Amino acid sequence: MSQPYFAYFDNNATTRVAPEVVAAMLPFLTEDWGNPSSAYSFGNHLARPLDQARSQVAALINADPREIIFTSCGTESINSALHSALLSNPGKQHIVTTAVEHSATLKFCAHLERMGFTITRLPVSPTGTLDLAALEQAITPNTAIVSVMLANNETGVIFPIPAIATICQSCGVLLHTDAVQAAGKLPLDVKVFGADFLSLSAHKINAPKGIGALYVRRQLKYFPHVIGGGQERGRRGGTENVAGIIAFGKAAQMARERLEALSSRLRVWRDKLEQSILQGIPGTSRNGDPVERLPNTTNVAFEGLEAEGLLMLLDQAGICASSGSACTTGSLEPSHVLTAMGLSAKAARSSLRFSLGAYTTESEVDHLISILPGIVERLRASSPPSDD
Ligand SMILES: *Cc1c(COP(=O)(O)O)cnc(C)c1O
Repeated sequence: MSQPYFAYFDNNATTRVAPEVVAAMLPFLTEDWGNPSSAYSFGNHLARPLDQARSQVAALINADPREIIFTSCGTESINSALHSALLSNPGKQHIVTTAVEHSATLKFCAHLERMGFTITRLPVSPTGTLDLAALEQAITPNTAIVSVMLANNETGVIFPIPAIATICQSCGVLLHTDAVQAAGKLPLDVKVFGADFLSLSAHKINAPKGIGALYVRRQLKYFPHVIGGGQERGRRGGTENVAGIIAFGKAAQMARERLEALSSRLRVWRDKLEQSILQGIPGTSRNGDPVERLPNTTNVAFEGLEAEGLLMLLDQAGICASSGSACTTGSLEPSHVLTAMGLSAKAARSSLRFSLGAYTTESEVDHLISILPGIVERLRASSPPSDD
């Protein structure tokens, strides 16, 4: 049973599956349920729709369909890119990444560290930007790969991947970019980015959970992470998630078609929401660079408040938002992204993220704008400021 809600502002955590996507995938859950690897046509005729979906996902990032490997999620894509880079550079034991990556990157790097690899986590500025000179200095002859996200899931801050790729190429080091949050919100072009690997996830662009893709630049040697059958031309074992792949293809096509209209609409509404908070509610400040960021995301600190309390009152009012990464909600750890930007643990714990999506309406935005000041006031009245 689904919970009723008035307004969903957590599209960076997951998105509603588009009805068109459900319609496209449904036949592959009902009558057309064969295994693509079968010898008979009931199964192997599925090669055609799978090829089409691969082309649709490739088109979203201007890649060749042969450069796309379907995986089970963004997390698997990220893990697989790093894994392949280490195996293709057996003498190199070092990875450069940033302190603000998604846990799919940071936790996998921590795992690799325990196995003997060395990890450099680049710091960010108070607005969440990277120092490219520091990135260049961090690369050593022992570096196998640089892994830097395209857009941050908590703040929306965008890193300059083309400039980072130029540095990596001049140092002869591979580059992976986590583009999960950028898909559907920014134009994506692997020819412009120049990265060797790029990760995507379907459930962030209005397709179901449990399907992702990894772009691997042509001619790059690839070592599979999930090993089994010969699916994905031997690069990712496991019977294809046929319905999921079809859904991802349809969602990628829709994301590409509506990109410009959607991102300009969301930017207007995001700015309206953000301005109303910053100007209308005392003691609020924006986290993250005001310019170099996604059009759909705003992250705001509410001085003296606990985000968890604010989220609870918003939830009671039927509004879904988030305090940083969904993966760490429930833990008392402040956001690693915000603390890396220099926020105190207290300020980080007072911050909320609102992320808009393809199904956000202006009336949802207006509703949030109308009730938020009262909720903040109520909470502040019930929890007098402590002195530290
Ligand atoms: C959601 C997300 C992921 C993980 O994708 P899953 O498909 O949920 O595993 C990775 N990176 C970023 C930036 C994300 O927002």
